[in-house]
Amino acid sequence: MRASKKLIISTLLVTTLLSACSATSVAAPTSPPVDTGATAISMASTMAAETMAAFPTETPIPTPTEIPFYLTANIWAEEPRVPIINYHQFAPNTSLRSTDHKIRKRDFLDGLEALNQAGFTLIHLEDWINGDLYVPEGRRPLVFTMDDLFYNNQIRMDENGEPRRDTGLSFAWRYGQEHPEFGFKWSLFANLGDKWYADGDTEGKWKDELAQSLIWCLEHDARIYNHTYQHIRMDKSGAEGIRWDLEQNDLFMRELLVKAGREDLIEGLDNMLAIPFGYWPEGSAYSATTNYITPEGKPMLAIFDIDWIINGVKFMAPPYSPEFDPMRIPRIAMPPEAIDYLVEHQSEFPTMVQCQVGALDAEQVNDQDYLREAIQASIKSGACPQGVYIIEENTFDMR
Ligand SMILES: [Zn+2]
Repeated sequence: MRASKKLIISTLLVTTLLSACSATSVAAPTSPPVDTGATAISMASTMAAETMAAFPTETPIPTPTEIPFYLTANIWAEEPRVPIINYHQFAPNTSLRSTDHKIRKRDFLDGLEALNQAGFTLIHLEDWINGDLYVPEGRRPLVFTMDDLFYNNQIRMDENGEPRRDTGLSFAWRYGQEHPEFGFKWSLFANLGDKWYADGDTEGKWKDELAQSLIWCLEHDARIYNHTYQHIRMDKSGAEGIRWDLEQNDLFMRELLVKAGREDLIEGLDNMLAIPFGYWPEGSAYSATTNYITPEGKPMLAIFDIDWIINGVKFMAPPYSPEFDPMRIPRIAMPPEAIDYLVEHQSEFPTMVQCQVGALDAEQVNDQDYLREAIQASIKSGACPQGVYIIEENTFDMR
């Protein structure tokens, strides 16, 4: 897999305060950085104004002093491992216990809290696969997926267009609002053709309700992907059947969006598939799956498996790793023991570190060779660790 050159996040540091750089710098990643530059400028203009007032005639405006600048590198000093947890449906707290396919609200929220306390932060699956490997400094990347959408207990809108408070995604949404360090980012794998939504009326009003839920999800970081139209056994399906089923799911989603007047959301849809039941197609059926293209012509980006943690723990590797296979990415079935495992083993999931690379010559920072040398110098001096560097538009493998 080629190294990605996608922009992650970079901050141009224009401050003279930063004279040393360290892999364990004290930046607080979850709060917006104080705009020292703006403060300095505003102080300077105040002072200039006062100076002008005191000396109204012919005061020369001082030329700004040359200030060194640094680029913030986000670094995977150890190879990241991303757990992908898979949820299905939700049950009220009055249920006796959580099952494999229905988790009680209380158990679900306990899991979010435990994962947050263990330092995990939700990332977008699609972003990671496309090479955006950023998580806030000191945090561990984590992916949440949900299968078999759309059921009432997963998400449904109220009369004000807000998610009903007794739905699973609504709990997660409110938790993410209250805990931005954990966030709210989901990948939803939907079967739009195997059930009616909401009250399932014969006149088909459920389709309008479904469209509203789709729209809310797409506008709130819950991206929607394919889980086949009818939740088919792909191991027992032929190539033609698979093509039809994948396409039908996509077409129906687009039809609902168009009918609701939101065709603008279609261009943001991508092509990923979670294999129903974890039963994989073979031969020409497998080829039809990996070669499936969306109505807009987007090729298959990734395919996801599902497994229990007792069958051995598997995690998503970074796209630059030889272990990364986008056509077979492991996911972990939901039950609480998976979360217990992650909490217990949290130290085995590396966190992202930051380091300031520089001081740099502003004229040359667009030159990749120059940047690479600057990083090398920072590593040699001991100021920054070895690792995979995400800096400006580029990823540099400096392990
Ligand atoms: Zn399923």
